[in-house]
Amino acid sequence: MNSRNRSQRFSVVTLEGSHYEMGRQHGSQCRELIRDLVSKFDDIILGGSDREKIRRVARDAVPFVSDAAPELIEEVQGIADGAGVTFDDIFRINCSVELFALRGCVEGQTVNTVPTTPDGCSSFALKGKEGTLVAWNMDWWRLWLPYIVLLHGKPDDSPHFFAFAFAGCVGRPGMSEHVAVSANYLPYRGGMAPGVPDEWDGPGVPYNFLIRIMLKQQSTEAAVAAVAGVKRMACLNYTIGDTSGDLRCIETTPRDCAELRPDGDFITHANSYLTAKFDGIPQAELEARDKRTHDAREQLRRAPRPLDRHVLASVQTSHFPGDTTGVCVHRKLQDKDGITLLSFTADLSAGTMWASCGPPCEHEFLAYRL
Ligand SMILES: [Zn+2]
Repeated sequence: MNSRNRSQRFSVVTLEGSHYEMGRQHGSQCRELIRDLVSKFDDIILGGSDREKIRRVARDAVPFVSDAAPELIEEVQGIADGAGVTFDDIFRINCSVELFALRGCVEGQTVNTVPTTPDGCSSFALKGKEGTLVAWNMDWWRLWLPYIVLLHGKPDDSPHFFAFAFAGCVGRPGMSEHVAVSANYLPYRGGMAPGVPDEWDGPGVPYNFLIRIMLKQQSTEAAVAAVAGVKRMACLNYTIGDTSGDLRCIETTPRDCAELRPDGDFITHANSYLTAKFDGIPQAELEARDKRTHDAREQLRRAPRPLDRHVLASVQTSHFPGDTTGVCVHRKLQDKDGITLLSFTADLSAGTMWASCGPPCEHEFLAYRL
C-alpha cells in the first residue's frame, strides 16, 4: 500500500490578515514544497505539448480573476513573494485542471474530453443527524499526495475557511463557517453545444479561484450565483451545502450551468453529466455508465435514517464488490498510478473537517476544527 501510517495528518497552513499577507505566509511556510512543485509542474501537466503556448493560456486567465476576485490576485502575489518564485509560476500551478483539459483538447486526448467516466473525484452532500454534511473524494495521480496541504484561512475581510490545496495554490474544496463545497471533474466541452467535446473555449476563472469565491459566500444560493456569474475555464460539477440544509450540485461548462437538487435527503456526483440540459446519463443507465455514482447512491438510499458521517465515510471508503477499486479509487489514470488522495466530510454545524490523508480505506478520518 504505502508507507504513511493510518493516523497521518495533513500539514495545516494557517493564513491570517490581508490577502497579500495570507499569501506571503503561505509562500514562506511552504517554500520548499512550492519550489519543488513549480520545478516539476510543467513536466507533469504539460508533457510534450507546446509549453509556451500553454503557459500563455494560463496568463490569459489573470484578467478574469482580477475582475471576479482581485483579492486573490494579491494572494497569488503574496505566495510568489513568500516562496521566492514568479507570479506566473504560482498562477500557472493554480490552473492544473484547466491545463489538463486544454492539453486534452490540443492533443485530442479523448480521456480528458470525451464523455466517459474517468475517475476524477466524487462528491456528496446530505442532511444527516449532525445537520448538513458535504463530502469529497479527491482522486488523481498518487504523485500529487506529498504536495497537498490544508489551508486554514482567517482573512480579515471574509469568513474563516478550510481548503485543501496543492502547496502554492489558493484552494481546492473545503468549508467555511457558512458553506461547504466539493467538486469533481467533468469531460471538457467547449462552447454550449453537447457533443462538441474538443473545442477549447478560451480562458476564464480557474477552479481553484472559483472554490475560494464560493467559500466567502453566506449560502448555497449565493455560491451557485457566484459560479454562474463568471466565465469559467474548465468543466466541473460543484456540490454545495450550507448551514440551512440547502444542498445542490451545479454542473458547469465554460459558459453554461445546470443545477441538480437532492433526491430525498442526499445528493451525489462523480464524473458524468447527469442533467438533461447537458444531455446527461439517464437514471436507468447509471449503473452501466457511471458505476461510482450509482453505487454511492444505492448505499445511501439503503442506509438507515438518519444518515450520519459514519455512513458517508463508509460510502467514500467503499470498493466495488470483488474489486480493488470503487468509490475509493485505486487504478491507472491515463499513464499514471491513480488513487483517492484524500477524503473529507465537512460537518458545518460543528465547524469540523473530518479528513483522511490518503485513501480512506487505508487511513482514518481525523478531525480539524475551524
Ligand atoms: Zn480504497
